[in-house]
Amino acid sequence: MKKIIAYVSLIISILCGCSPEAYDSGNTAAVPAESAGLTVSYIDVGQADSILITSPDGKNMLIDAGEGEGRSGAVLDYLRERNITELDTVIATHPHSDHINAMDDVLDNIAVDKFYLPNASHTTRDFENMLDAAENANEVIQAKAGMSFNLGESVGCDILAPVSDSYDDLNNYSVVVKMVYGSTSFLFTGDAEKEVEKEILQSAADVSADVLKCGHHGSSTSTSADFLAAVDPDYAVISCGRDNDYGHPHKETLQKLEKNGTEVLRTDEMGTITLVSNGSEIVSVPPADTAEKPVQENTVGNTDEKIYVGNKNSKVYHTKDCSALPKEENRVYLTPEEAETNGYTPHKACIK
Ligand SMILES: [Zn+2]
Ligand SMILES: [Zn+2]
Repeated sequence: MKKIIAYVSLIISILCGCSPEAYDSGNTAAVPAESAGLTVSYIDVGQADSILITSPDGKNMLIDAGEGEGRSGAVLDYLRERNITELDTVIATHPHSDHINAMDDVLDNIAVDKFYLPNASHTTRDFENMLDAAENANEVIQAKAGMSFNLGESVGCDILAPVSDSYDDLNNYSVVVKMVYGSTSFLFTGDAEKEVEKEILQSAADVSADVLKCGHHGSSTSTSADFLAAVDPDYAVISCGRDNDYGHPHKETLQKLEKNGTEVLRTDEMGTITLVSNGSEIVSVPPADTAEKPVQENTVGNTDEKIYVGNKNSKVYHTKDCSALPKEENRVYLTPEEAETNGYTPHKACIK
């Protein structure tokens, strides 16, 4: 397992050789240029899922397209901000609207080569719109466990689910993908629930990953103890909306992650989360407007004022007595002002 390490030194080394324009600090969607490595952005689409992946050689993959309701165009806007005009691979994990509502917008406006979806159907207008728009893709592929594809020259993807031909719950048709670049790996699970997690484990697939996108927005229906133990991620990403109606992520899931020593990154707390892998390390890229103002460790001065404990990787800060403090080596001590000016996000459980 590779650790997500302090972004400051790594971003500097990653950016070596890039032109200065490669990192557009005025653009909140900005990420390092192609040569920086594999970029994975868990886009803040509220109570929904959408993940954009760019390979080191500039091939793009989109997993799900979020919900259009009330956030119409969020994914398309994001793709345009990132100057994405072609998507090598698009995956619609399953037919629920929080994953495919805006997929027709994507297929109608961006050139899509391969479009993967499971053998599941739904009676909604959203689903029909997506199927109509799928005609724009070069190739439509029914996803099934055992299939593999590459994203560019150096990134490999294995489809681990759906394993069975039919399920009672649409969530369980979710296309589950493990992506590997060098010695780093990411697992994307859609809304797959425990039943599917068990099937994947029984299939003897290698599920171990550095970063797990928790199934079903952190619901207790997913991230079973056995599955979590097998994946054993350093980081878990939960894509959910602030104060959502479902209570996601559920506390059972958070407790399991804490017990496993997995650090949680949440879109409801942090907005869009971008992780970059250079093939051996994974770093979290802070929002661009805070990228050039790293907090110094062991800051001298009046330490009594430093009432918060920040995590220098995830940029979430806690009260000193919070039960979910970051690992010792990732801590940085902050005044309220430093937390704010350096773009740290309050941990919802301890800071009201
Ligand atoms: Zn679903
Ligand atoms: Zn969902």
